[in-house]
Amino acid sequence: MIIVMSSSNRDDVNHVVTRVEELGYKAHVIYGVERTVVAAVGDERGKERLTSLEALPYVEQVIRVLKPFKLAGREVKKEDTVVTCGGTKIGGGHFCVMAGPCSVESEEQMFGTARAVKDAGANVLRGGAFKPRTSPYSFQGMELEGLRILRKAGKTFEIPIITEATTPEQVPVVAQYADMIQIGARNMQNYGLLRAAGKAQKPVLLKRGMMCTINEFLMSAEYILSEGNPNVVLCERGIRTFETETRNTLDIQAVPVIKLHSHLPVIVDPSHAAGRWDIVIPMACAAVAAGADGIIVEVHEHPELALSDGQQSLRPSKFGKLMETILPLLNVMGKVSG
Ligand code: PEP
Ligand code: MN
Repeated sequence: MIIVMSSSNRDDVNHVVTRVEELGYKAHVIYGVERTVVAAVGDERGKERLTSLEALPYVEQVIRVLKPFKLAGREVKKEDTVVTCGGTKIGGGHFCVMAGPCSVESEEQMFGTARAVKDAGANVLRGGAFKPRTSPYSFQGMELEGLRILRKAGKTFEIPIITEATTPEQVPVVAQYADMIQIGARNMQNYGLLRAAGKAQKPVLLKRGMMCTINEFLMSAEYILSEGNPNVVLCERGIRTFETETRNTLDIQAVPVIKLHSHLPVIVDPSHAAGRWDIVIPMACAAVAAGADGIIVEVHEHPELALSDGQQSLRPSKFGKLMETILPLLNVMGKVSG
């Protein structure tokens, strides 16, 4: 249920929050541009009791939320959410480019790539320290040492960093080092991990599961939001289809569809969608044209030597070309960088 306030006075809002909690529901206050609302989430049964709050003088209306995603949906918040990562903005007209290697491999590798992507205009540096690999025999990431190297590279080149947490236990340490926590496609429905990320004090990038629907994607975002973390960015990274030319199929339609349903920013990962470097630039252009709020791209100085995802990584020169190519499109779409 949404309790639409006729007042944004903190005392009035706090009173409503207390009443909602007394009725056994969790209260999430959303200060929008046009209105302040208190979203009451919890057990669907007995929700009608919340309508009694309409009797309060500073409550305008109590409305039932029809969609299953209560906090992620536009019913509760009409305007676009802007998420801040380090000093960079994502959403609401701010286009964010995240770039870097699939995995942190060494200080030399990370520093070389960080310098290159920063010079080319990237807003956030990526690099996996805990890697979710299909095979247990593949490189699993440098773990804590990888986090340290990534942090150092981010500090040195003054760029915020994003890295993945693959278990709930890793969330606090990843949150300590990184500016943004990534939840990978394989973990989109790892509810313990989602809840842990919801308790963290850092923004979260949630990637769409390769076999998950948009509805399931938004329900996973709901897990994070319902734990009290409002800073969630969604990432379309390709879904599995019968096509074998590409690793996945970029569901570009997901961008405008999600935006109809949700106020959360949506970015696109053309690297994992394509699985091949040679179509990453046109897919990045498609992302901008579809209205995405950013892209996340894999970049490696020596893709042939990469310990993971070399075949889909751009060399720094090609990444520079990508940035040059999307710039005029961003202007057309009315977006500003970062
Ligand atoms: C990654 O970003 O390197 C990654 C593993 O992505 P995904 O979870 O989308 O496969
Ligand atoms: Mn990768």
